[in-house]
Amino acid sequence: MTATLYIIATPIGNLEDITYRAVRILGEVNLIAAEDTRHSLKLLNHYGISKPLTSYFDHNQQFKGERILNALRRGKSVALISDAGTPCISDPGFQLVRDAVAENIPVVPVPGACAAVAALSASGLPTDNFTFAGFPPSRQGKRRTFLTDMNALPGTLVLYEAPHRLVGTLNDIREVMGERQVIVARELTKIFEEFIRGTASEVIAAVSQDIVRGEVVILIAPGKVMPQETEPLENVLSRLMADGTLSIKDIAKQAAVISGVSRSEAYTEALRLKNDPD
Ligand code: SAM
Repeated sequence: MTATLYIIATPIGNLEDITYRAVRILGEVNLIAAEDTRHSLKLLNHYGISKPLTSYFDHNQQFKGERILNALRRGKSVALISDAGTPCISDPGFQLVRDAVAENIPVVPVPGACAAVAALSASGLPTDNFTFAGFPPSRQGKRRTFLTDMNALPGTLVLYEAPHRLVGTLNDIREVMGERQVIVARELTKIFEEFIRGTASEVIAAVSQDIVRGEVVILIAPGKVMPQETEPLENVLSRLMADGTLSIKDIAKQAAVISGVSRSEAYTEALRLKNDPD
C-alpha cells in the first residue's frame, strides 16, 4: 500500500455495521490511528486485525498529527478510526485530513455508520434538505443563541447531545423554536434502540419520566416557512410611476426586486402601463 490516509467508519453500536472494505483496509494498512486505542482494540480483535496502533484524540491532535503525517510522508498507509461512526463527524480528524490534503497526500474515505445519517434515515422527517449542527453549546445562554441561529433554516435539523443535557436542550428547543415535531433517536443499532416522536412538549414529557441513558440524536422538523408576501407587479409599477422622479429603467429595476419578477418582465409591463395607463 502506498502513502494514503484512509478515513474509516466503524460501527455505532452493532459490530456488524462495518463494511467488508473497511475490514480489509484495516488489515492492510501500516498503522491505525484510533481515538481510544483500548476501545478500538475490541473491534479490531473481533475482526482478527492485528496492526500497530497509535492514539489520535482531541488533546494530542497537534503532536500526534505531525507524527502521523511523518509516517505518510515516508510512504506508509494510515487508517484513522474514531470510537464510533465516521471520523471527523463530531470526532477528531479534520485537522489531520486538512494537513494531508495540503501536502497532496491522498485521503480516501471508507464510508459506513454515522449516527446523524442513521437517525435521519429512519426519522420520517424530510431528508431532502437537512442541517447537521453537531453538539449544541453546553451553556444555556449560548445554546439558545445557537438555536435562534438555526431557527430560520428550511430543512430538518440534526443535533448530537449528551444524555444528561437532553431535557435541558429539548426545553430550549421548545422555548426558542416553538412546538415543532421532535424526535429523539436513542441507542441506534443497539438492543434498546428507540425513536421517541412527538411535539417538543410530548417528547419532553416522555424523556422526563426516567433518566435517559445511552446515546442520543435529536431531530427537529422544519419550521413553517411563510411564503413571502409580494406586491403585485402592476401595483408596484403604478406606485413608482406616480412618484414621477424615476426613469422607466429604474422603475423596472426596483419593481423587479419588490415583486420577485425578472427585470425584462418588469420593463415590458412598465412600458405598457406608461403607454396605456388604463
Ligand atoms: N463520529 C460519530 C458519528 O459518525 O456518528 C459521532 C461521534 S460523537 C462524539 C458521539 C455522539 O454521536 C453521541 O453523543 C450521540 O449524540 C451520537 N451517537 C453516536 N452513536 C450513537 C448511537 N448508537 N445512537 C444514538 N446516537 C449516537
